[in-house]
Amino acid sequence: MKFNSKVKHDMSFELERLVRPNILALEPYSCARDEFKGMDAHVFLDANENPYNGPLNRYPDPLQENLKAALSSLKGVSSEKIFLGNGSDEAIDLVYRVFCEPKCDNVVAIAPTYGMYKVCADINEVEYRPVPLDENFQLNAEALLASVDAHTKVIWLCSPNNPSGNCLQRDEIVKVLRGFEGIVVLDEAYSDFSDQMPFRLMLDEFPNIIVLNTFSKAWASASIRLGMAFASAEIIGLFNKVKYPYNVNKLTQDKAMEMIKEVFKVERWCTQIRMEREHMLPALHELPIVKRVYPTDANFVLVRVTDANAIYHYLVERGVIVRNRSRVELCQNCLRITIGTQPENNELLAALRQYK
Ligand code: PMP
Repeated sequence: MKFNSKVKHDMSFELERLVRPNILALEPYSCARDEFKGMDAHVFLDANENPYNGPLNRYPDPLQENLKAALSSLKGVSSEKIFLGNGSDEAIDLVYRVFCEPKCDNVVAIAPTYGMYKVCADINEVEYRPVPLDENFQLNAEALLASVDAHTKVIWLCSPNNPSGNCLQRDEIVKVLRGFEGIVVLDEAYSDFSDQMPFRLMLDEFPNIIVLNTFSKAWASASIRLGMAFASAEIIGLFNKVKYPYNVNKLTQDKAMEMIKEVFKVERWCTQIRMEREHMLPALHELPIVKRVYPTDANFVLVRVTDANAIYHYLVERGVIVRNRSRVELCQNCLRITIGTQPENNELLAALRQYK
C-alpha cells in the first residue's frame, strides 16, 4: 500500500479535504421558501406562484422539515443528519457531485453490486474500481482497501447486497470504515428484511459513513420516489447545498407522512415477506434445475440454475418475469428472484417444476 494513499495511518477524518473545491466554495441558490419560513403571513407574493389551484400551487418545503421530524423519531436519527431525495439514486449521484472531481478522483466498490454506483460514476467521469467479493459474496476489507490510492474519495458497500442478497460481515464493514479516511457509503436499502443492526444508529462512531435507505422496498412505495441518506450534519449540509431546491415534491412528502402513520403495515409486510422467503428457499433448492440457492437477508434470492438464459425466456413466455443476472460478475447462470405474494411465488414454482 502506498504511504500517501487514503488508507488510514493514524490520521483523523478531515471532511473538507474530501470535498470538491467548487462545492466547498459554492454559494447555494436561495429560494423564496428559504428566505421566509414563518407561518404568520397570509399573503404570499414572493415566489411567483399562481394564487389558484391550492394547495398544489405552492412550492413544497425545500428541506422537508415535517417529514424529517417524523422520520427522525422512527429511524432514531436527528433531522439534521437526514437527507431526503428523489429515490436513493439522487443521493448516489450527489455523492459523486459533492466529493469526486471528474477525470481525477476514483471510487472503489464491491463487485457484484447495485448497478447505479457505476452508472453515476460513468456519468460524472469518475473512475470506478470494482473489487470482487469472494465466492460466497463476502467482503475482504484488506483486499478492498488494497485498491485505494491517494485519489480514492469513496468506497461503495451494500448490505444486504444486491444481487447476492446476503449481508456483508459486520467486522469487515467496520474494518473498511476504520481503515479508510474517505467516505464510505453503506447502502442498506434491504436492511428491513434482515436481522442486522442498522449502521445509521452508529453515525457518531463513524464520521465518514453515509447510510442509504429507501421507501422503495420494505415501505412498498417505489412509485413515490423517496430515498434517505443518513450521515453527519456536515455531510448532509453539503448534500443540501448541491441538491435541486425542491427535490422532493409535495405529493411525495404528504404520502410519506401518511405511510409513517401506518408503519405497522410495513412491519406486517416485512414479516410476511420473510415467511414467504423461508418457504421459497427450500422449495427452490429441491428443483432439479437449481444448482445453488444463495443465502439471503433481502426480499429476493439469487439462484444458480442449469441454464439461466433458457429458463429466463421460458418464464417470460409464461408471463413470469425474474431478473437474469447471468452476465454479472460471479453470477454466471444466476437468476435473481424477488419474493412476491404466496400465489405469485407458487406460480413461479409451478412453472419451474414443469421446465424440461
Ligand atoms: N439501492 C439498492 C441496493 C437497490 O437495489 C436499489 C433498487 N433496486 C436502490 C438502491 C434504488 O432505490 P430507490 O428506488 O430509492 O432509488
